[in-house]
Amino acid sequence: MLEFFLHPSNLSLWIIIGIIIASIFIKNFWCRVLCPYGALLGILGIFSPTAIKREESMCRGCKNCDYVCPAAIKVSKKKRINSAECIGCFECVSNCREKDVLKIEFLDFGPISGTFIGILAVLTLLSFWVWGRLSGHWFR
Ligand code: SF4
Ligand code: SF4
Repeated sequence: MLEFFLHPSNLSLWIIIGIIIASIFIKNFWCRVLCPYGALLGILGIFSPTAIKREESMCRGCKNCDYVCPAAIKVSKKKRINSAECIGCFECVSNCREKDVLKIEFLDFGPISGTFIGILAVLTLLSFWVWGRLSGHWFR
């Protein structure tokens, strides 16, 4: 990888220039269109048990949620966000000034907090680590 940046070929330079130019016109072009990790997150997002719901009747249409969304999703126009482009950052939720307009829902169990999801994510990762250690798949 270091070699790629130290001695870039003409083709690499043209690709980098193309990405920079595209990023001027399309917000977060690399992350949204080309990044393989973003694609993986998108697939996980589609099948995620959590989704963001917007209470239309209480929304005042300020568009703060649209402005802060790194994936340029028009949150203020959707009832439920389960787009492949959503990376689950919850910036829209924390930047909505209206109480309970944007809510994180877990399946049909109703609203849950971002803290709960954070704890769940850490516990899931820890359980993989413990499983790896106990089963001998994790060597260090
Ligand atoms: S930030 Fe909240 S109130 Fe404003 S448009 Fe988005 S959902 Fe509606
Ligand atoms: S969670 Fe993040 S990526 Fe998804 S809609 Fe909200 S701000 Fe956009």
